[in-house]
Amino acid sequence: GIRMPYFGLGVYLMNDGKEVQTAVQYALDIGYRLIDTASAYDNESGVGKAIRQSTVERSEIFVTTKLWNSDHGYDKARKAFEKSLKKLDLDYIDLYLIHWPVKNKRKETWRALETLLDDGLCRAIGVSNYMLPHLRELLDYAAILPAVNQVEFSPFLYQKDLLDFCNNHNIQLEAYSPLTRGKKFNNEVLVSIADKYKKTAAQILIRWALEHQVVVIPKSSNPDRIEENADVFDFSIEDQDMEKLDNLNEDFRVSWNPTSVV
Ligand code: NDP
Repeated sequence: GIRMPYFGLGVYLMNDGKEVQTAVQYALDIGYRLIDTASAYDNESGVGKAIRQSTVERSEIFVTTKLWNSDHGYDKARKAFEKSLKKLDLDYIDLYLIHWPVKNKRKETWRALETLLDDGLCRAIGVSNYMLPHLRELLDYAAILPAVNQVEFSPFLYQKDLLDFCNNHNIQLEAYSPLTRGKKFNNEVLVSIADKYKKTAAQILIRWALEHQVVVIPKSSNPDRIEENADVFDFSIEDQDMEKLDNLNEDFRVSWNPTSVV
């Protein structure tokens, strides 16, 4: 029953303090309503400060943070959550994710997240970097299913099987590194489609995720690019061009690869 925006701001690699505060504040001012941070990004304090100082109501903002690998385990997970909440200095977190499917630990950690949800400390719980085997295993032991799975996702890493599985189990897929950190902006097919719609490569990549009904969280600390990335709601990509983009898949990753974690 929880509603989550389809589009938001990622804040990975933004420095705590002025950089992250300015970016989050600007994003909220121009209409962003989802902010994605993590304890590992070490900028939860700045994110929280920008949210508290914003004129946008807290209830209109969707805040995600994540549990880091060294905080797995039942007690550690509950403590890590408290620490994130304190750093953010907010009354609640909207979505709390397990950042990475750490071997032998993730079951106990999930149980802790279920209790956080039961205690009303966060509005939804989910996972990140869970591939099909991790999700199948989780569905076996979970009393509460994850609301979200956040994974790397772009036309160059079009994980269709994972998307289908998530859709079939009411798990919302969320795309991180949706811009491939700029590494594929010069791809010929992408450039020709961007030219056709008079949009930038970044905007086509974001729109592609939205067309697949995947939540998308591009990162930028630059006001012009924060604005550019949000300017994707005045057009749609035709089926034939979606197909061309889907066909760009080459299992290309800019981030860590969770497929080998058992
Ligand atoms: P992105 O694919 O969002 O790319 C970000 C990079 O692209 C930055 O260098 C940014 O620079 C640049 N950029 C942004 N917009 C534009 C634009 N319009 N034109 C040109 N360049 C642009 O990469 P991220 O890895 O940051 O992924 C996004 C978010 O996903 C993260 O911030 C984080 O919240 C989340 N994430 C989650 C992970 C997980 O394990 N769960 C792993 C990785 C990311 P500049 O800031 O200068 O604009």
